[in-house]
Amino acid sequence: MDYFLDVVLPIPLERLFTYKITQQEADFLQPGMRVAVPFGKSKIYTALVYQIHSNAPTAYDAKEIFQILDETPLVNSVQLKHWEWISHYYMCSLGEVIRSALPSAFLLESETLVMPNKEADIHEMELKDDEFLVYEALQHQTALKIGEISDIVDKKNVLSLVNRLVQKGVVNQKEELYEQYRPKLVRYVKLSDVYDDEAQLEELLNELSRAPKQSQVVLSLFQIRTKNNKPIPIDDLEKESGASKAVIKALIDKNVLGEYQIRKDRIDYQEESEESEHIGLNEHQTKALEDIQTGFGQNKPVLLHGVTSSGKTEVYVKLIEQCLEEGKQALYLLPEIALTSQLINRLRHYFGHKVSVYHSKYSIHERVEVWNNVLAQAEKAQIVIGARSSLFLPFANLGLVVVDEEHESSFKQFDPAPRYHARDAAIVLAAFHKSNIILGSATPSIESMDNAKKGKYGYASIQHRYGNVLMPDINLVDIKEATRKKRMKGHFSEILLKAIEEALEEGEQVILFQNRRGFAPVVECTTCGHVAQCPNCDVSLTFHQHRNQLRCHYCGYHMALQQACLACGSATLDNKGFGTEQIQEELNQLFPKVSVGRMDLDTTRGKYAYEKIISAFENQEMDILVGTQMVTKGLDFRNVSLVGIMNADTMLNFPDYRAHERSFQMLTQVAGRAGRTKKRGKVLIQTYNPYHQILQQVTTNNYGKMYAEQIYEREQFKYPPVVRIIKVTLKARDFNTLNEAAQWLGDSLRNVLGNQILGPEYPPVARIRRDYLKNILIKIPKKQSLAQTKNSIKRIEKSFNAISKYKSVRLVYNVDHI
Ligand code: ADP
Ligand code: ZN
Ligand code: ZN
Repeated sequence: MDYFLDVVLPIPLERLFTYKITQQEADFLQPGMRVAVPFGKSKIYTALVYQIHSNAPTAYDAKEIFQILDETPLVNSVQLKHWEWISHYYMCSLGEVIRSALPSAFLLESETLVMPNKEADIHEMELKDDEFLVYEALQHQTALKIGEISDIVDKKNVLSLVNRLVQKGVVNQKEELYEQYRPKLVRYVKLSDVYDDEAQLEELLNELSRAPKQSQVVLSLFQIRTKNNKPIPIDDLEKESGASKAVIKALIDKNVLGEYQIRKDRIDYQEESEESEHIGLNEHQTKALEDIQTGFGQNKPVLLHGVTSSGKTEVYVKLIEQCLEEGKQALYLLPEIALTSQLINRLRHYFGHKVSVYHSKYSIHERVEVWNNVLAQAEKAQIVIGARSSLFLPFANLGLVVVDEEHESSFKQFDPAPRYHARDAAIVLAAFHKSNIILGSATPSIESMDNAKKGKYGYASIQHRYGNVLMPDINLVDIKEATRKKRMKGHFSEILLKAIEEALEEGEQVILFQNRRGFAPVVECTTCGHVAQCPNCDVSLTFHQHRNQLRCHYCGYHMALQQACLACGSATLDNKGFGTEQIQEELNQLFPKVSVGRMDLDTTRGKYAYEKIISAFENQEMDILVGTQMVTKGLDFRNVSLVGIMNADTMLNFPDYRAHERSFQMLTQVAGRAGRTKKRGKVLIQTYNPYHQILQQVTTNNYGKMYAEQIYEREQFKYPPVVRIIKVTLKARDFNTLNEAAQWLGDSLRNVLGNQILGPEYPPVARIRRDYLKNILIKIPKKQSLAQTKNSIKRIEKSFNAISKYKSVRLVYNVDHI
C-alpha cells in the first residue's frame, strides 16, 4: 500500500498539498507535527501535517517529504479545528492562519547555499571579476549564503551571478534548513563525585596547595554551596573566586570539576514571592461574581459591565483562582500590550510564577518558550496574559478566558489575513474547549450589549467604584466662544489651564488626551493652500517637530521639512491642527518647571518603552502625561486628579457609523483615569460643540441612553449588530483597471445578492503604498445564511479571477469589518 500525507503550507493558497511517505513515516507522523517539504522550483518549506491516507493525488505526482521536524505534535486537534473555523469565517486560507498563529521561529525556511565544485577544472583567467571574487572566497570556506555573496561583490541582486557560476561549473547549489530557535543553555559546575569521599578531598586540597588560584576556586565553590545548595553557574563561580576562565577550565580538564548545562527559559520570574492572601470582594463585586457564575452555569459567555475602577480585575482574579483549583489553564486577553506591565504585576502578586506573558514585542525565542510551556501544560504557563495572538497557543485544558476591555477595536486584526476579531474568535475557542469566557468593559461594545440583552450572553454589572470612590466630575468647556473672544492660550482654555495649575499645586498628576500623534497633522501654505502629500498614499504628510520631518502615517515615507512651499515657493507655511507633540511643546512654554511626558506610537517603539513611561508616571517622575488613545485604556494611576481632553470634536465627526460609539467609549475610559482614590477626580472636555448628545451622555455617565440611541440608528441605517458586514477591498497599481474591475465585481455581486451591496467607493484614503483602493460593502441580514452568502461571493471571485485583464487586481476580504 502507498501512503500519502496532506499538509498545509503557510501560504495564501487554499488547498492542501499531498506528499508521498513510507509506511514507517505514516506510522510515526501525526496531525499537528511539522515536516519540511520541497515546494516550487527548489525551495523547502515548513508544513503542518493535516492527515495521512492512501489516495494518490490525481493531478500531479506526489513528491517525497524532505524531513520530519517534530517528535510529537506541536499543534493539537482543538487548535486545528479553531484555525479552520477562523479560515472559513474570516475568508482566508488555513495556511495564512498558520503563518500568523505559529511563532515564526517554528516556520523554518530553506536558504540557498553555494559551495565550491571540487571536481571542476577551473581556469581563473576565464572568470569575470565578480565571479573571481566568489571563487576566491570559496577557496577558504565550505559554503556561502546568498547574503554573504551579496556582501562580497557589494551588489543586492546576485542571482544572475550565481547562475553564471553554476553554468561554468564553478559552484554547486544546495538548500539547507535553518532552525532559528536556540534554547538558552546555562553552564554549571560541580565538584566531581569522587570527592564525596573525604580522604580523596583532603588529598586534592593538599595537591592544590601548590596552585593557589585553583585552590581558591575550589574553596569558593564550597562557600557558594554552603550559602545555598543550588546548582552553581560557572559565571557565579568566576565572580566569587576572582579566578579567570582559564583556571576554571584547567580544573574541568583535570576532572576536578564537572561541567554540565541546563536549559533555561529566557524569561524567568525569579522572585519566590509568597502567593498572597485571598482577596475579599465587596458586596457589588460579590453580586457580580454570582451573576457571572449563573451565566457560566448556562454555558454562556458573560458580559461584565463595570464602571471604571469598580474592581473588575479583582473579580477576574477570583475566577482565575477557581479555574486553577480545577487544574485548568486560564487565558487573559488584553487589547494592547501597553496594559500588560501593570496587569502582570497585579496577577503575579496573586499567582506568583504561574503567570506567563505572550505578545509580539517578545523575541521569537521567548515566544517559542511560552508556546512549549503551554503545550507541556507547565505550571508556569497556567495563566497566560497576552494580546490577540495568544489565542493561538496550544492550550489543551482551557478553563477560563478573560477578554478585558472587550469593546476595543484593536482586538480586530486589520492586516494581514487572518483579519479576525480576537474577542469573537475567543468565544469560539472557549466553546471548543467547553471553557468559561468573560467579556469585561466599562463601556461595552454595542454588539456585546445587544447579545446580552437578547440573552445570548449572560450579564453582570458593577455600577459603583471600589471603596466608595466617586465617579469623576466631568465638565464640558466650550472653546468656540473662547476662540472667538481670543481667550485661548495655544490649545488651552483658561478653565483647563487653571485646573492644571491647581492640580499641580496640590502635588497631583494630570493626564491630557489628544487623539493624534505628531506635532501638527499638516503644514499648509497660506499663500496657495498647498499641503505636502505622500507620494505613495493619498494623504497629507504629518509634521514631526522632534525630527523636523514630514511623515506619512500609512507607509512611513518621510522627508525633511521644507523652508518654502513646494508648489509656489513662498515661505508662508503654517501648522494646521495639532498633535501630542505640539501639546507637549506648549506645556513646556506654559509650565517651564513642570516635567511633561508623552505616550504615543512614536514614543513607545522599543521593547520596554511602554513600561518605562508608565512606571516613570507611576513613580511621579512626571507631573503631566500627554497621550493618544493609549492613555485611555485600563491603566490604574493612583495620583491623577485631573484629566483634560484637548478636543473632542475630531473624534465625533469621523466619517464612520461607529464614530459616536467610539467617542463615548474613549471619553468615558480616559475620564476613568481620574480620581481613582479617595478624592473625586475632575475631567474637562474641550469642544466646539458642547450640546452634542454623545458629550451629554459622557458627562452624565449615561451608557444606557447612548446604547439605546445607537442601536436605534443601526436599525434605521442597517449597520452591525443589525446586519453583518463583509468589506471587499480591491487594490491595484493602475487606476483605470481598478475602477473597471470594481465596477464589474460590484455589478456581479448585486446580481446575486441584490441591494445589500454598497459601492464600489473610494475609502477616505484612496491610495496607500502606491496602490489605488476601492471598497465594496456587503450587508448581510442576520437571518440570511452567512455560509451561503460567502459561497456566492467565492463563486463570483472565481469568475473574477478568470478575467485576464483583472489579473493585477487583488481582493481583500474583511469579515465583520469594524
Ligand atoms: P477596573 O478594572 O474595574 O477599572 P480595578 O480592578 O483596577 O478596576 O480596581 C480599582 C482599584 O480598586 C484597584 O486599585 C484595585 O486594587 C482596588 N480594588 C478593587 N477591588 C478590590 C478588593 N476587593 N479589595 C481590595 N482592593 C480592591
Ligand atoms: Zn504655496
Ligand atoms: Zn505614504
